[in-house]
Amino acid sequence: MGLEEKLPSGILLTTVEKVAGYARKSSVWPATFGLACCAMELISTGGPRHDLARFGMERASNTPRQADLMIVAGRVSQKMAPVLRQIYDQMAEPKWVISMGVCASSGGMFNNYAIVQGVDHVVPVDIYLPGCPPRPEMLLDSILKLHDKIQNMKLGVNREREVDDLERARLRRLPLAAGLGGAPRGAHPGAAR
Ligand code: SF4
Repeated sequence: MGLEEKLPSGILLTTVEKVAGYARKSSVWPATFGLACCAMELISTGGPRHDLARFGMERASNTPRQADLMIVAGRVSQKMAPVLRQIYDQMAEPKWVISMGVCASSGGMFNNYAIVQGVDHVVPVDIYLPGCPPRPEMLLDSILKLHDKIQNMKLGVNREREVDDLERARLRRLPLAAGLGGAPRGAHPGAAR
């Protein structure tokens, strides 16, 4: 009887996952990516009053190869989108993205052809932070939530299984609008009770 049968892999792997999660969440290095007014709040988060250094994150990296967190602070123009994607591609794995402010998350008030209507059209987003602009305290809160996510991230086959489950759940999701699969065509919500 081998060790594999004596020790269920779940117990062994959970411990490794916890250690790896703790190490990862305690050493997140952000890439500098201030695009508009939200960047002022991002910069002040690193100042002495809010003290991002408490989380080991005061080193804002100017090279994407030494960064694993992209904080997109401000609206993303169509011209900037390919640059943003290239920087994201150059960042080290595993990597995370915080979309800071309503402009980065949805285009905000800039509903026009020049602005990308949400940075999730360009890169996958882990945390959406609302506000115009979000206060540094809100950014710190989103960073803590991201830390929680990183701490509980699975590894190896467990991670693959989790990604598959999420994918299946997304495919099963029903459309919200009536007439697109939920209610029968032409039916009015208040009609023929
Ligand atoms: S959300 Fe507000 S503060 Fe942030 S970039 Fe847009 S307009 Fe500027």
